[in-house]
Amino acid sequence: MEFAGLTDRGRMRARNEDALLMRPARGLFAVADGMGGHAGGDVASRIAVDVLDERLLATGPEPGGDVIAAAIRAGHEAILRAARADRALDGMGTTLTALQLGPGEAACTVGHIGDSRAYRLREGALSQLTRDQTWVQEQVDLGTLTPEQARTHPRAAILTDALGIETIDLEIQILEPACEAGDLVLLCSDGLVAGLTDTDIADILTAHASLDDAARALIDTANAAGGPDNITVALVRIG
Ligand code: CA
Repeated sequence: MEFAGLTDRGRMRARNEDALLMRPARGLFAVADGMGGHAGGDVASRIAVDVLDERLLATGPEPGGDVIAAAIRAGHEAILRAARADRALDGMGTTLTALQLGPGEAACTVGHIGDSRAYRLREGALSQLTRDQTWVQEQVDLGTLTPEQARTHPRAAILTDALGIETIDLEIQILEPACEAGDLVLLCSDGLVAGLTDTDIADILTAHASLDDAARALIDTANAAGGPDNITVALVRIG
């Protein structure tokens, strides 16, 4: 297995509220994109990945989908507790998209909430594995927006689900996509897709043999397109 990851503040934001988790020895990778309040976004995204990391470490190697869902829910509850304990953090929340390789070879599980994304590149073809939990995605499903209109829509950032939002009935997506040796999985925050189409992403990934170079090129291209938001990418090539 090869991997690379980078997180970047982008060009417009004062702080980076994304969080990146890479635990290659355990086959665990995650991206979280925090939001809310003056100080809360980076706290929420950090809690989400730290609780996921701790819970999955405690439950042993190669956890299944139900264990991953429970670890994500534990992060949600930890964010709520932190927000209740400090009013400055009230209203913070975060997305979370996690990849767990295993159990065994050529198996993987994706746990997801919000509008960060997991993609799989196989033989040059890029597929989005996760479904955005956003208002614009609902409009795409209804046929009132095209995917391209949704990508650049002024309301593109409105989430319909996230960790740390008290009133929400969490719908954690647990996916078990087919994965095989040579597949490349990309986890990213929405700062990447704000400036790049899926075709742009596929072209960059296929143009770079080194995952470190590909991760850097994704960040640089998103910044060249304006870098309106924090940008985080994790790349994992299945061995
Ligand atoms: Ca974002």
